[in-house]
Amino acid sequence: MQSDEIKRLDCLLEIYIDVNVDKDFSILSKKTDPFFILSMSGQFKYSNEKCANLLGFCRGELVQKRLNDLFGKPELNESESFFLNKDYEKLTNFDSRVTNKQGDVLDVNVTAFPILFDEGVIGSYVVLKDITSIKRERQLLSEKQAVAGQLAAGIAHEIRNPITAIKGFLQLMMNDSKAEDMYYKIVKSEIARIELILKELMVLAKPNKFKHDRIDAQLLLVQVITLMESQALLNNIEMIKNFNLTNVFVSGDENQLKQVFINFIKNGFEAMPDGGKLFIKGSLLSEGSIGIEFIDEGSGIPPNVLKRIGEPFFTTKETGTGLGMTISYQIIEAHKGRIDITSDEKGTCIQVTLPAVLSHK
Ligand code: ADP
Ligand code: MG
Repeated sequence: MQSDEIKRLDCLLEIYIDVNVDKDFSILSKKTDPFFILSMSGQFKYSNEKCANLLGFCRGELVQKRLNDLFGKPELNESESFFLNKDYEKLTNFDSRVTNKQGDVLDVNVTAFPILFDEGVIGSYVVLKDITSIKRERQLLSEKQAVAGQLAAGIAHEIRNPITAIKGFLQLMMNDSKAEDMYYKIVKSEIARIELILKELMVLAKPNKFKHDRIDAQLLLVQVITLMESQALLNNIEMIKNFNLTNVFVSGDENQLKQVFINFIKNGFEAMPDGGKLFIKGSLLSEGSIGIEFIDEGSGIPPNVLKRIGEPFFTTKETGTGLGMTISYQIIEAHKGRIDITSDEKGTCIQVTLPAVLSHK
């Protein structure tokens, strides 16, 4: 567009705003929706208070802006072509993203329609609707659905294999009564596997139900370690404790936290098939939180495995369920804590951070 032409249209638009919008005679009420008026060259010419609030600018600042100052790059072409197409005379509606003054990206629904003067387009009204929270809800829902789908597929797969084996061996048992004993053992272990998978799934199925006990952190760790002692011995593993958590408490569900620590210890054992040391450290990190570390001397976790840890049914072990880490992430999240994994070829460190409840006894 020629600059003379732009100037002429800008001038007409300014008159339009002066005569109609400023005096509140425009088709849009200033008080209803956030809207701005855009010139044919992509310059903001007017913004109502609501729009300025939404974008975090004051109105004076907004009219210094151009379209591409606020709309993100990938959206810009789309937006630009919608707003600046001179022949466009229909109402346009699409979802886009804008960056506010603080630098946050907002999801918005954009409705644009032209301002006509003398058979021509001199600018556009652009109405914004903040759909950030709607978008986030939609995204969460689809993530949940994806996990549920993954779970369902995984359950079917995992349960079918043991059931097939059970059916086959039962058939054999009926045919050959001499070999009964061995078949019974296999049937028993397959049933145990079904039970294990179902038990872990049950924890996943009710993640929101948990208690808020006041738990002695050090005692909890000692109990878990005692529980795992015989298995450590069998696997030629030495568990080395280093705690400094006297009178430190956490709030939550004792059994669920035990389940998490057992998962980490078991994974540590399984990472050291030839034995080794598993360090378990616990200390107060700052006033507000405690850190518990499980450090093994295994061969570590390669990056392609690391990024998938926590995915339901993701396992690198022949008889793994791939649910231990999924459950652990869920439980620790419910306790407002976090899990950090660091790993190299010398071993893996799983660090759990939990909010501490200090005792002043
Ligand atoms: P599972 O132990 O049944 O395989 P998990 O969810 O507990 O399932 O762990 C998933 C995967 O994460 C394991 O198969 C393993 O590859 C990896 N992993 C977890 N902890 C460790 C560890 N300490 N060292 C090496 N790999 C680990
Ligand atoms: Mg495991």
